[in-house]
Amino acid sequence: MPTAVAGPEIERLIQLLARLPGLGPRSARRAALALIKKREQLMAPLSAALQIAMERSSICRVCGNIDTSDPCTVCTDERRDPSVIVVVEDVADLWALERAQVVNARYHVLGGILSPLDGVGPDDLSIDALVKRAHAPEVKEVILALNATVDGQTTAHYITDLIGHANVKVTRLAYGVPVGGELDYLDEGTLAAAIRSRTPL
Ligand code: ZN
Repeated sequence: MPTAVAGPEIERLIQLLARLPGLGPRSARRAALALIKKREQLMAPLSAALQIAMERSSICRVCGNIDTSDPCTVCTDERRDPSVIVVVEDVADLWALERAQVVNARYHVLGGILSPLDGVGPDDLSIDALVKRAHAPEVKEVILALNATVDGQTTAHYITDLIGHANVKVTRLAYGVPVGGELDYLDEGTLAAAIRSRTPL
């Protein structure tokens, strides 16, 4: 039987850290140890940041992003192009696109994708709000930045049908060869999609 190396308070800290995505029990132990060793430089500011995030973070009523202001920083940024809405499944996708700094547009977070097997229907997602936003006069393009899975594509088709009446261009991400990728290493599905969505040089 393993013996506890620390008291229940420290064990609880480790158990909570281990529930974070990407951290297993071993890395949670390392993280807890790092926090305790760097009490002033790391633990105190982290604790303060967690407190502020807990008190002030909320879901943006316009786009579904998570921020400490509502509407969020993205929605209130006047330098962004209001004519383009990028539709994503989850806040994590929005943040990933923002990290890549590839679009200077507004977003719309669906909060999931249609999945009949999991019982996720249109009413469970922020689709009505998207349709309303797509009809706003300033909106010219809706980019569907959804996963290249069956459910992702079903959702893309469903949304395309719904906003077909709005006067907007509906586009989706290209599929294919990753930047720096070698053809030899790609799976058949990716290769087939790359051939289908080939572009003129
Ligand atoms: Zn927002």
